[in-house]
Order: sequence, then structure tokens, then C-alpha cells
Amino acid sequence: MKFDGWLNRRLDKTKEVGLYRKLRTMNTAPRPVMSIDGQRQIVFSSNNYLGLANDKRLVNAAGTILHDFGVGSSGSRLTTGNSEWHEKLEERIASFKQTEAALLLSSGYLANVGVLSSLPEKGDVILSDQLNHASIIDGCHLSKADTVIYNHVDMDDLEEKLKETESYQRRFIVTDGVFSMDGTIAPLDMIMSLAKHYHAFVIVDDAHATGVLGDDGRGTSEYFAVFPDVVIGTLSKAIGTEGGFVAGSKVLIDFLLNHARTFIFQTAIPPSICAASYAALEIIEHSKEKRKLLVSKVKQIKTSLEEMGYTVKGDYTPIIPVIIGDTEMAVIFSNRLQEKGIYAPAIRPPTVPIGESRIRLTVTSDHSFKEVDYLLESFNLIGKELNLIN
Ligand code: PMP
Repeated sequence: MKFDGWLNRRLDKTKEVGLYRKLRTMNTAPRPVMSIDGQRQIVFSSNNYLGLANDKRLVNAAGTILHDFGVGSSGSRLTTGNSEWHEKLEERIASFKQTEAALLLSSGYLANVGVLSSLPEKGDVILSDQLNHASIIDGCHLSKADTVIYNHVDMDDLEEKLKETESYQRRFIVTDGVFSMDGTIAPLDMIMSLAKHYHAFVIVDDAHATGVLGDDGRGTSEYFAVFPDVVIGTLSKAIGTEGGFVAGSKVLIDFLLNHARTFIFQTAIPPSICAASYAALEIIEHSKEKRKLLVSKVKQIKTSLEEMGYTVKGDYTPIIPVIIGDTEMAVIFSNRLQEKGIYAPAIRPPTVPIGESRIRLTVTSDHSFKEVDYLLESFNLIGKELNLIN
């Protein structure tokens, strides 16, 4: 192609800074032990927190509707893509999130971009946590409102910035519920108090908290017993399927249906996926034991790694970042894990700050205690071999 030379030069630069990525092929369905590029690996990097992506109840729910409705939705929600299953799922999401209404989009990414690019207007300001997900950052870029970044979960800095932005028409605080690279839980109770005091709106991206946090798995709102103005989520993590959603007031949903471009101009997700997601929510509400089991594994992993001498970030969420520090060392560590049959990627700058390269572990309720023990044993051996721990 005419531009291959130019693109190859750009790719060379990507390689030079150690950011070249390539795909790996999964040869089996999502589960704790998978074949990846033909190799048996225990996977500690999936978002399938409750093991639902491959749950027979979801597969059967999707299968029935697949036969009735076909494989594709055939249009955007506002043309021919809206089925009774989309509406049923939206009602179910609203009752799950305890809001008046909900809106389905094709992904959590598009839900964030849709909300942030349509809701705040010119003359408004978005106050965004420094470690928010890329889709929030991209939504802020598309918005006509200004964006001000506050330090990660730093409530003093947020308050400072709320004071500095008093002249704006409206203020929106946007935060991940659980941060995807650090596993921190946003202090939503404090954010809500500040928002009340300074008359700001709160938008929460609950991608990693939905299904996981709160007694019934409703997410950070349930965990802190608060009601943010806008709750965004994805179906692609604990829920185990595909798609994104926004939950909030009926007026908010009506507004987004009319103004969010990522809703208006996208093809609807297939009805079969809606049916599977509906089945997942029924299961999630009754999965207290699974959530407890998940937290107990998280605690075991965190405590054991800390006892070995590792620095482990985050709160008790399924995201467990183990700080290695040096970028090359993090890659070597991840490769050594892979040789031992454990799949857990190294996360490097610019995704994380320089000097904070890490192995980002995620654990699911389906991992056996034997698999967890093997993970810990491997961290102990590799850490000693690489002189990272004593
Ligand atoms: N928000 C957060 C915090 C995420 O981690 C992700 C997925 N990595 C998304 C949004 C995007 O969700 P989806 O995969 O459904 O597009």
C-alpha cells in the first residue's frame, strides 16, 4: 500500500518505546484455565468476575432468542433495531440499579462517550478523576464543556477544584466506581457530599463494580448507599455478555435517546445478548455467596503477596495490581508467569505512571483455591529469582 512505509515508521516508534501490542488467540471459551495460542494457561486477567460469560443458563437464554430473532438486530434502536428484549433488559437494568429508567448502548465505551459528549454543554465544566477510564477521557474531549482533572480519589483536591470552578454554569463530577488499573474504589459517599454542597452532578462509571460490589451486586451506589445522578455500566464484565448502559431518571434517558450520538448512530446489540444479560442479572442478584467467595480470594491473594514483600495497590476488588516498578522487569515477570502457565499481563506507561509498571491480576469467583495457591507459589518463586523479594 502507498502508505505502508509511513505506517511502518510509526510502528517502529511504537516498538522503540515498548508499546507495540499484538493479539493473542483464545482457543477455548472464557474460564479460569484456557488454551491461549495453543498453550494451557490459568487466566488471571479476565473481567469475567462471576464466571457468567460461559454459564449455561446465559447460553441457553441467548440460544432460545437467537432462534426466534436471528443473529443481528438489523438497525439502530431508533429505526428497526429495537426489540422487546432490549426494552425488557432496560427495565431490568433500571430495577437492578434502582433507577427510574435505563438505556442500552453497544458498549460501556460508547455509553461513557455518549453521556459526556451530550450532557455537559458549553459553559459547563467536567471534573474528572486523574485515573478515569480512556472512554471517559475521550468523552471529555468530545464534549463542548471544559474539563478539569483532579488527583486520583483526592477529595481535598476535588473540593479545591470545585471552589475554583464556581463561575461555571453547571459542574459534573465524573469518576470510575472501581478504577480499572488500580483497583481503587472511588469514595462515592464523599463525592456525593461534596457534590451536594457545591451543587454539582455526579456521573459514575460502574463498569468494574456492577455485579461485584454491594450486597446484591448493584455496584458502588449500593456499596455506599448513595444515588448518583448518572450511573454508567457495561454488560461485558461481571454480567458476562456485551454492551453498555446508562441508568438514571426517565428524563435523563429520554434526553440521551434524543441527543447521545453514540446511541443514535449505532446498531443495536442483538436481542439474544439482551436475553442472556437479563438472565445474568437474575443470577447476580442471588449471588451473595459467590461475591463473598470472590472477596475471600482477593483478600488471600493481597495479604499473601504483601507478606512476601510485594507492593499491592487497590481496595478489596477483583483487580489486584502488583507493583513491579521497572517496565522491562514487569515484562520479564509477565513472561516468566506465562512460562509457568499463568496468564497475567504487564501494564506499562503511559497506561500507568513511570516507575509503576505492574502485573495487573484479576481474580474471578470461578478460580479454585488450588489455582490461587499456584499463583502465589509462582509469585514467590519468580520474585526471588528476579531479586524483587527476599
Ligand atoms: N469503563 C471502564 C472503567 C472499563 O474498564 C471499560 C472496559 N475496559 C469500559 C468502561 C468500557 O466498557 P466496554 O468494554 O463495554 O466498552
